[in-house]
Amino acid sequence: MTKIDVDLLVISEMRDYVQEQLDVRFRAHKLYEAPDADAMIAELGPSIRAVAAGSHRNVDTDLMDKLPNLEIVSNFGVGYDNVDAKSAGERGIIVTNTPDVLSDEVADTAIGLMINTVRELPQAEQFLRAGKWTSANYPLTPNTLREKRLGIAGLGRIGKSIAERAESFGLSIAYYGRSDQKIAYTYYDSLKALAENVDIIISVLPGGTATNKVYNEDVFKALGPDGTFINIGRGSTVDEDALIEALKNGTIRSAGLDVFDHEPHVPEALMALPNAVLLPHVGSGSVYTRNAMGQLLVDNLTNWFENGKPITPVAETPFSAK
Ligand code: NAP
Repeated sequence: MTKIDVDLLVISEMRDYVQEQLDVRFRAHKLYEAPDADAMIAELGPSIRAVAAGSHRNVDTDLMDKLPNLEIVSNFGVGYDNVDAKSAGERGIIVTNTPDVLSDEVADTAIGLMINTVRELPQAEQFLRAGKWTSANYPLTPNTLREKRLGIAGLGRIGKSIAERAESFGLSIAYYGRSDQKIAYTYYDSLKALAENVDIIISVLPGGTATNKVYNEDVFKALGPDGTFINIGRGSTVDEDALIEALKNGTIRSAGLDVFDHEPHVPEALMALPNAVLLPHVGSGSVYTRNAMGQLLVDNLTNWFENGKPITPVAETPFSAK
């Protein structure tokens, strides 16, 4: 592999598998290891042409201002709400993400989380481990997936992988998004309408200002006392206080959450609730899938500098050859 004559700023810690490739192909500078990040940016800023990003540090206009020759931000993750992609696009900076390679893994996690939440499997395991089985059976679960209607909010790449799996469970499927995709599933043009017409919502909505706290008291009321809310998208889409209240007072039955508003911090009130199943953002978290995502991050960078064409640029930014 030939070395590419480019200074790359690595702003979030990468897996070894990724970092080793970045070190081989580029002059990679690890911002997250710098004792004084501002000093490193001041010294290297004009020479940096590429950024490798992750969720630990945002790429905002403040950072872009300090990197005047930046051409590409390669982000680890399909969600890129950590990058101001609109401003990057306006400056002619490409932003890439890692779609598709994680969809099946995240869909598996979403389905697992749904079953765990509806059938209380983690709670049943706690019951066994606490030695309670010798004196009683675990109570029958009031909820089931049988004869249920599933609403998917955000029927994109991951949402469709979830729908494929859910069909095999016999769930009837509806969805919400900004547009009617004219497909076999029933479309609702608002979250409230979706919530009124399904038993379970799985949310795969992206983060960002347009979806900020769109799951509020009204939506939880519409979902109703038998309803289950699963979130595999972004924590910022949920008014967590309203969700906690809805779970406490029976406005909805249960919730399964892989993502939270202030990760890795999860509200104590949520952790205390017996009808919430909580995961530490593990949707795509297998070695296999994280390696595939890392490879795509690297390939986006090398393709841009070798061929003038990134592989998976996001919608807001340009991608034409240099
Ligand atoms: P995608 O293919 O772009 O799908 C996103 C869907 O959301 C689209 O169907 C889109 O439909 C809808 N949508 C986008 N903006 C919306 C808005 N403002 N209001 C309503 N609907 C909106 O993306 P994906 O690959 O499926 O990934 C989706 C999200 O999953 C990511 O952005 C990320 O936040 C999250 N994620 C989480 C994990 C995890 O580990 N938990 C892992 C990967 C991804 P319309 O265009 O019709 O509105």
